[in-house]
Amino acid sequence: KRIETTNEEVRKLINIDVTLNYAARPDVRTKTPWDAPIIWEGMFDKHIYDQMHIHLKTNVAVTVFAVGGYLNVYLKTFLTSAEKYFMVGLPVTYFIFSDLPDQIPYIELGPQREIKIIKVERHSRWQDVSMMRMQTISTLIDSEIRHNFRYIFCLDVDQEFKGRFGSEALGESVAMFHAQFYRAPKSRYNYEKNPKSKAFMKTGDFYYHAAVFGGTWENVKNLTDTCFENIVADKVNNVEAVWHDESHLNKYFYLHKPTKLLSPEYCWNEKFPGKDIRIARLVWSPKYHTSLRT
Ligand code: UDP
Ligand code: MN
Repeated sequence: KRIETTNEEVRKLINIDVTLNYAARPDVRTKTPWDAPIIWEGMFDKHIYDQMHIHLKTNVAVTVFAVGGYLNVYLKTFLTSAEKYFMVGLPVTYFIFSDLPDQIPYIELGPQREIKIIKVERHSRWQDVSMMRMQTISTLIDSEIRHNFRYIFCLDVDQEFKGRFGSEALGESVAMFHAQFYRAPKSRYNYEKNPKSKAFMKTGDFYYHAAVFGGTWENVKNLTDTCFENIVADKVNNVEAVWHDESHLNKYFYLHKPTKLLSPEYCWNEKFPGKDIRIARLVWSPKYHTSLRT
């Protein structure tokens, strides 16, 4: 008798990460203390990852916010570069949140790729534009993503893809090493120091960058709900974490360990000395905080 297995079950049976070659990068940290892989160039066979994910019919939802001035400055570069390098060969839907949906530029998309535009209100404080993404993403997971997608990546718009950012980055719960801190002592991490904030933490594992996080929709739903609840609790208590949603994200990933970490190749600042960086896959675009954060 033939036993029907769903793609979901097959995905759990076939752990592609067992093919990772940790020995290929003795120069860097390739595993967390809880044995989650940290993905570096040289450790993975891109063909195995891509073939397996095509076989599993993997698809990916991207959420990206382009509110106020960020739309004109960053969105076109973000999208055109993503079409060249992000999950090429897999179906990808970009969910673009903007207060100016009519001004979203036309972008030529590859096969199985699409853009969906969702209008949002512009919060008057930039801190709220950033933090309230957690709520908006959670709502979209409920209304659409959970019914149609397996994986989600939530990305800042002020970045440009410059190298492969492929299916090796997919995982159950994916966190991004912050380029500025990955070699720094823990004492320098930007963990929230105010005990009144829900993001408060005395110690942690690493310092994660909120510009890139992802995972299965179930895990990202739990992450965005938890962070949003804590952001609201802080507002009720009249406190705000110094690094906003990133502070809450760091607390979340301390309490719920990510199953995969991305090396700083996946969100790199080209101004930093890149001793360990053989390929910059996604890089920080220039920041114009004084003019853009009104
Ligand atoms: N954002 C936006 N409009 C704003 C402020 C923020 O669209 O006025 C979005 C945008 O996607 C941006 C993200 O929120 O990349 C996080 O803000 P920002 O990149 O300024 O934070 P930083 O990376 O400088 O900490
Ligand atoms: Mn940013």
